[in-house]
Amino acid sequence: MKYVRSLITLILLSAACTSIVFLLQNKNQPQAKDMPKQTNPSPEATVRLAAVGDILLHDVVYNDARRSGNHFDFLPMFAAVKPYIEKADVAFANQESIIGGVEIGLSTYPSFNSPIEIADALAFTGFDVMSLANNHALDRGEQALQRSLSYWDKLNIVRTGAYTSQEDRNTIRTFSKNGITCAVLSYTYGLNGIDTLQKPYLVNLMQPEQMKQDVEQAKQIADAVIVILHFGTEYETLPNSSQKEVTQFLADLGVSVILGHHPHVLQPPEFLTGKQGNQTFVAYSLGNFLAGQENEETHFGGIIEVSIKKEKDGRIVLNNPSFLPTFTYSRNQTDYQVIPLAQVTEEQYPLARERYDKIIQHMKTYLPTLRIVTPK
Ligand SMILES: [Zn+2]
Repeated sequence: MKYVRSLITLILLSAACTSIVFLLQNKNQPQAKDMPKQTNPSPEATVRLAAVGDILLHDVVYNDARRSGNHFDFLPMFAAVKPYIEKADVAFANQESIIGGVEIGLSTYPSFNSPIEIADALAFTGFDVMSLANNHALDRGEQALQRSLSYWDKLNIVRTGAYTSQEDRNTIRTFSKNGITCAVLSYTYGLNGIDTLQKPYLVNLMQPEQMKQDVEQAKQIADAVIVILHFGTEYETLPNSSQKEVTQFLADLGVSVILGHHPHVLQPPEFLTGKQGNQTFVAYSLGNFLAGQENEETHFGGIIEVSIKKEKDGRIVLNNPSFLPTFTYSRNQTDYQVIPLAQVTEEQYPLARERYDKIIQHMKTYLPTLRIVTPK
């Protein structure tokens, strides 16, 4: 079976030239180019994924990062969570505010444009894959989006969900790590009032037929398919029926992991079973990772992790889901930092302990075995 799949992959790659494998740099090894998909993994081939929710830069956040004039430094904001992000094999985030840079004018809610230095900070913190399909993707038009795409490419970050051209959109992003190749697709429920796109390739919308086609194609070139969804209802702490419906649809198509965001608050993860009996891990909403929203509920997020293991027969098994709750700390709209909630002091946030216990209970709603990561 695996040889058949490999042959199909080769045919697809050479005949259609629609798929390019983007390789992630192994943090401990030199980057290998043009590495073929590994068809004979060791029995222990496992990749550990970590994912966070929204990075949405209101003016209070980027002004806090402003050093002089038009120079920004976001690194200190992520210093406390960096060790957790970089220890994962592959780390994912949703860059919700577009990175068009100062040249076209920074802006905040309701139409965002952020400094490019946020991308530098995310890359330095250890993020590898950036989801760009979200309702703010076209806040500042195509120009801002294209500027953002070229900057992510310059940083060698695997980007998914927004594209420079139709050819770029047809290129399914994959990464190979520890003998496993994963494809990454990303879609948004909408674009804040833009109903029809003149250039549909710019941002992926959640259209079932298109998603099905993409997943089927992704399965031909990868061992596991990861789908990132920007969906749900803002500020709702449990997934709604349409979230449940689309995630089950993807589970039935054989998707292994679904990473969700948009509600700005945490929704509990669970395992779904697809119609082939396959497992799908779903994080419905990972809350905000870094944002300047005032509502206290939006100050919580977290790092969710799960391991993808490839058995000798090519079967994918998902193991050991875990969660580290995080808190966006700020004081009088300054000193923004993402901190593991367990490390937040009473002085920083008097309700820290109480909220920590509530969040753990909430995140275990559907998955009592979810392991909670405790900072040392
Ligand atoms: Zn959103």
